[in-house]
Amino acid sequence: MNQLTDKVKAFLAQDPIPAFVNGTWKKGEFEDCSEIENPANKEVLTKVSQSSKNDVEDAIEAADKAFPQWKSISPQQRAEVLKRFADLCERDSEELAQLEALDVGKAINNARGFDVPFGIECIRYFSDLILEKDFEQKLELEGINGKQVRIPFGVVGFIFPWNFPLTLCMWGIGPALAAGNTVVIKPAEITPLSTLYLGKLAQEAGIPEGVINIVPGKGSVAGEVITTHPKVKCVSFTGSSAVGKLIGQNCGIHLKPAKLELGGKGGAVVFEDADIDHAAEGLAGAITLNTGQVCCTATRWIIQEDVVDEFVEKVKANLQKTVIQPGMMEECEMGPVVSKKQQDSIIDYIQKGIKEGAQLILGADVAPEKEGYYIPPTLLMGDQNNICFKEEIFGPVAYITTFKTEEEAIQQVNCLDYGLANSVWTTSAEKAQRVALEMVSGNSWVNAHNVFAYGLPYGGVNGSGNGGGVNSIETLFDYTRGLTIAEPIA
Ligand code: NAD
Repeated sequence: MNQLTDKVKAFLAQDPIPAFVNGTWKKGEFEDCSEIENPANKEVLTKVSQSSKNDVEDAIEAADKAFPQWKSISPQQRAEVLKRFADLCERDSEELAQLEALDVGKAINNARGFDVPFGIECIRYFSDLILEKDFEQKLELEGINGKQVRIPFGVVGFIFPWNFPLTLCMWGIGPALAAGNTVVIKPAEITPLSTLYLGKLAQEAGIPEGVINIVPGKGSVAGEVITTHPKVKCVSFTGSSAVGKLIGQNCGIHLKPAKLELGGKGGAVVFEDADIDHAAEGLAGAITLNTGQVCCTATRWIIQEDVVDEFVEKVKANLQKTVIQPGMMEECEMGPVVSKKQQDSIIDYIQKGIKEGAQLILGADVAPEKEGYYIPPTLLMGDQNNICFKEEIFGPVAYITTFKTEEEAIQQVNCLDYGLANSVWTTSAEKAQRVALEMVSGNSWVNAHNVFAYGLPYGGVNGSGNGGGVNSIETLFDYTRGLTIAEPIA
């Protein structure tokens, strides 16, 4: 088991960890706090302040007050301070990785290898981009001297889910801050720790007070204020499609732009000409990564009939090798799921799926007797008319169907309202491109699943979002509003 660093011990020893507002640490108005549980052993890790409506309003006021100065400093100065922040995140990357492993339950080596470095890289990517990109464009018009300028909104409110707290936070605030906005962040109730730790690093980096505010608390209280307050000029939400619809509704009533990055039910189409060893390894990894709690991962495996037996044998062999342990163990490949609520929900789905006719080919329909909230990798097989094919389960569970023709495979991928990410597995480059174009989603991956890079836009359509996505040049401009300035030439 990895030993906690002294900084992590001191951070968790606070009772409670306060909110970060206007550059200072603040207990909530009512001094409410919630216990944060370690899903690997059900012990309380620490307590975190809960923000009231007034607390969030104070944070929004602070962000609003900080905006004029933050937007006015030069892009060079903004990039400099943000890069200092990134450097401090890198200095404390072990602390951030430990907090992710403790709080979410994820394998520490995944947090060290992906969540933390990829999050830090995001701040650097957008800091570089603001030095390269023009926020002002001259318009070639007859008789008019005109230009279009991109201007930061002001206060941007962020609401995040619990599965990748640090990475998603960086994906959101990186472009927003670089573009010159100030931010109010509401992390998920159950996994706020790494986000709060970022407050410490923002303070040390000299990010001016009020530019970053972090208000842990309930969605129905703290989250609600973010979506309705008149001084929040743009809302960015990452979370479930159900809550996303509520947020969209609220933002609509208040005419606020809303970036919505929502749930998914990714399909992976495996053709008979695919490299089956590679597909089996890749897809086993897709449901064990973050214990399957990944919005875009492949959870519907759509396999060409002739190779289904071979594929199932190989994928089972891969999954059976998975080292399932507390996330803090060095050898851990898959940790527990995040909470009892999540464990119960996954078991419930598996039981309902079996009742509706699915065959359980690996795993269990009851939780194993372990200290924490564990679920073994689980495979179900059946037809499309099953709850486990249709709904997002958000655990280490995949549902296998079969197909005969390419048209049938595409129909299966596209028959749900979700549209986040799918993959196609084949050795035919032509077929890969053809199917990739036909699958309705924001992202089609070829011979791989979960492919991320800065400069590669990532986002969902239909039930999976409308926000334009993250990680690209467009994301930077999503956090700006357009303004045209025009003067007729006399
Ligand atoms: P959730 O929708 O239950 O909660 C997300 C956030 O919304 C939390 O911070 C919660 O407190 C807040 N919230 C809840 N009700 C609210 C309200 N009425 N007003 C304002 N805020 C409110 O999602 P979750 O269970 O935390 O996370 C899992 C979901 O997130 C999955 O559906 C997953 O697919 C999705 N997700 C999507 C992406 C993406 O990039 N598309 C990334 C990660 C997770």
